[in-house]
Amino acid sequence: MDRNQVFNFSAGPSVLPESVLKKAQAELMNYRGSGMSVMEMSHRSALYADIFAETKARFRAALSVPDTHEILFLQGGATLQFAAIPMNLLEGGAADYAVTGNFSGKAAKEAEKYGAVRIAADTSDTGHDRIPAQHELRLSDDAKYFYYCANNTIYGTEWQYTPQAPAGVPLVADMSSDILTRYIDWDKYAVVFAGAQKNMAPAGVTAVFINTAYAGKALPITPVMLDYAAMLKGDSMHNTPPCWCIYMMGLMLKWVEAQGGIPGMEKLKKERSALLYDVLDSSSLFKGCAEKGSRSYMNVTFVTGDPELDKRFIAGAKERGIENIGGHRSVGGMRASIYNSMPVEGVKALADYMREFEKQG
Ligand SMILES: *Cc1c(COP(=O)(O)O)cnc(C)c1O
Repeated sequence: MDRNQVFNFSAGPSVLPESVLKKAQAELMNYRGSGMSVMEMSHRSALYADIFAETKARFRAALSVPDTHEILFLQGGATLQFAAIPMNLLEGGAADYAVTGNFSGKAAKEAEKYGAVRIAADTSDTGHDRIPAQHELRLSDDAKYFYYCANNTIYGTEWQYTPQAPAGVPLVADMSSDILTRYIDWDKYAVVFAGAQKNMAPAGVTAVFINTAYAGKALPITPVMLDYAAMLKGDSMHNTPPCWCIYMMGLMLKWVEAQGGIPGMEKLKKERSALLYDVLDSSSLFKGCAEKGSRSYMNVTFVTGDPELDKRFIAGAKERGIENIGGHRSVGGMRASIYNSMPVEGVKALADYMREFEKQG
C-alpha cells in the first residue's frame, strides 16, 4: 500500500507528520551542505550543538518552561525514569503513587526498591476505567513527591485536572502520551518526563523536565546515567546522546509551532477525539471503555462486547488502510491512538467506518 492510503493509529511508536519525514529525508544524506548526515556527526560539533540548542529552545518556548526547570534528553525510555525518579528524589523516604494503569503500576513497583511507596489511589478494581477525583487521593504531608501518569495509553483515560498535593509536596508526572497537548503548571512539578515515541519523535529519546532544586540528592548507589545532577552538569551529554532522535524531535517541535503551538494542538485534540466519542455515544454496538469524565484525548478505547466481532471490525479496518486499532495485548478490544500527528481526516475515516460497520451488522 501507498503511504497516503494508510491511516496509522499505532499507540507508539506512532505516526509522524509527512512534512516532518520529508524534511528529514531531504536532509538525510547531506545536512545543510555539511556533506554529512546528522547520523554521522559528532555530538560535540558546532553543527550538532546548534541542532541540540534549537530543539531545547523550541521545547522551552512551546511549553513555556520557566528558568526553574531544565530540559534533559535521555535514553532508556520512560521506563528508566521509573527508577531514576525514586533514586533522585526519595532520599530513603516515602512517596505517594496513584496507580491508574499499567505504567503507573510499574513505576510504583520500581520505586519500592528505593524507598517507601504509598498507594494514593488504585483504580484496578474497575479495570482502570477512570481517573480518581482529587478527594479520593490519599496524600501524605511528608511525601517526597506525588506521582501520577497523566494519560493512560492502554486504558484510554486521562487526568482532566492537575492534582493538588499537600503544601511542600511536588508533583512528578509521566506525560509520555500527552506531552505537547496542553500547558503545564510548572510551579507544581519537580519532574515531568515523556518518552518521545508517542507524540513527538522516533523511539530512543526521553524528555525530562526537572526543577533543578530537586537535583543533587541521588542515592549513593545511583548509576551516573540516572543521576539528574550529572545529566544536568553535562547538558545531557555526559555520554553520547540520541543525536538523531533529538534532531527529529526538533523537526517535530517546529511542526507543532507551525500548527499554532499548544493552543493549536489543544484545538485539534478536541476535534479529533469528539469525532470518535460522538460515534461511541450514539452507538448501540460500540461501547467506550473509559468513564466519561476520565476520557483520554489521545487514546480512544472501545469494544463491541464480542471479541469475535472486535476481530472482524479490526480486519475490516485494515482492508481500508485503517491500521493498528487493536487494543493493547493486555486488554483487547479496540484502541485508536490519535496523537498530535494524526490527521483529522484519518479520524473521520475511522468514524465513518464505525458507523458503516454498525449499520451493516
Ligand atoms: C509507552 C509508555 C511508557 C513506556 O515507555 P518506554 O519508552 O517504552 O519505556 C510509559 N508511560 C506511558 C504513559 C507510556 O505511554
